[in-house]
Amino acid sequence: MSAKRKAGTCRIFLDFETTALGDARVIDIVQISATSAEGASFEQYVLPVPGRKMSPGASAVTGITLERLRGELCALDWKTVAAQFREWCAEQSQGRGLEVVAHNGTAFDFPLAVRALSSCGVLEGATLIDSLTAFRALRPGLESYALSNLYMQLIPEAEREALVWHDASADTRALAALWNVQGNTFAELAVGHGHSFEEVCVHARQLWRSTGPPPQCPSKACAVLGLCLWTRVSNSKRNPGRLYSTCKECNHFSWASPPTNGERSAEKAAPRLRPPRVQIAD
Ligand SMILES: [Zn+2]
Repeated sequence: MSAKRKAGTCRIFLDFETTALGDARVIDIVQISATSAEGASFEQYVLPVPGRKMSPGASAVTGITLERLRGELCALDWKTVAAQFREWCAEQSQGRGLEVVAHNGTAFDFPLAVRALSSCGVLEGATLIDSLTAFRALRPGLESYALSNLYMQLIPEAEREALVWHDASADTRALAALWNVQGNTFAELAVGHGHSFEEVCVHARQLWRSTGPPPQCPSKACAVLGLCLWTRVSNSKRNPGRLYSTCKECNHFSWASPPTNGERSAEKAAPRLRPPRVQIAD
């Protein structure tokens, strides 16, 4: 059930700043920013739940403190911001499907989105794309895949903006610029690396059940790129509802939960037809 790109989708670049780094279940969003491929933008500061503190590390990186949120940054409560964001997304998409791109989304922004945006329905039916995974897979061999480094490596000097990194708004503008200079082939292939919101929900819940980072793909080429396995729910006749792990880059398949029917557990995944790995010439 990989997400397929529909004709006329609306692409948005999304970034959150939070009270701390780490487990999406115990941190709060303090800034949300989105930039559409057409150049429209959404930005809002958010008040964390009462009693939640900003970690000194997060404040040092983002410059956001509780005092500034309550004062000059005019932060609003999450419920209000989520409603505004849903309205903004509806205005941008005009009924088209959404493609949401976030850098390091798999590990960070998407699990947060699952927790924070599930109830308002914004991302149902959307394709979520982790640009970090996409750049690692489609532009292998770069020195670093941090957003600021990608920006310096891939955007010609004359076109670079002077950006303040780790500000959600600057980060989404940088990501949009980076994406736009890659061209259509990159975008098409990157969308193939995308996931449906439903997949992201399963993945986030699986992450929360485990204690460590998501499992890496065991294939050598994927391990070099740092690509993780995705957990999905089987809907086959033999193993309905059983979790399995798969990699979008190679054809890795392994079961991630016990058989739903003991006798039928020997089922193998049907071989999938895959396009050959493509590297894009510059
Ligand atoms: Zn793999």
